[in-house]
Amino acid sequence: MKKAICPGSFDPVTLGHIDIIERAAEIFDEVTVLVMSNSSKKASLFTVEERMEFIRRSVTKPNVKIDTYNGLLVDYARENGAVAIVKGLRAMSDFEYEFQQALINKSLYPDAETMFLCAKGENMFLSSSMVKEVCTLGGDIRPFVPSGIAEDIYKRCKGVK
Ligand code: ADP
Repeated sequence: MKKAICPGSFDPVTLGHIDIIERAAEIFDEVTVLVMSNSSKKASLFTVEERMEFIRRSVTKPNVKIDTYNGLLVDYARENGAVAIVKGLRAMSDFEYEFQQALINKSLYPDAETMFLCAKGENMFLSSSMVKEVCTLGGDIRPFVPSGIAEDIYKRCKGVK
């Protein structure tokens, strides 16, 4: 059984993430969406449990699991027998950081390959931070996030404003 991991902060999950997760699920027998709780990014808008619940509601493929981890990604991969770490690439600007991470992960754990899937054209500009910004300023986020979670994001952003 070939297992892959799609790691990220998913704060919140967007249609760009869902596209990558579901394409990975077509290639691998099992895909774990790993909500990393030790992200270096600034304070998150949603708790890890909320982020996991949003992903649970949005993913349709039966071979996708959701988990969280606050250690080294490669340790999770080793403990769970994953052969690949799947990341989405939006633009060249993503590449340098992702390439560096892929090389470090490969040297820490050579048994897992990092694989990059290109973002769909319409998702190239999409990020969780962009969704939060648009939402906080009262814009329509429905084209960017799974339909089942848009309302929850609106409610939280209203509280932040
Ligand atoms: P963000 O960069 O939106 O804060 P994450 O840290 O949660 O996202 O990213 C998790 C993974 O999803 C990364 O591999 C990232 O490159 C990928 N990703 C993020 N947004 C998109 C998108 N719009 N299209 C494709 N992949 C994406």
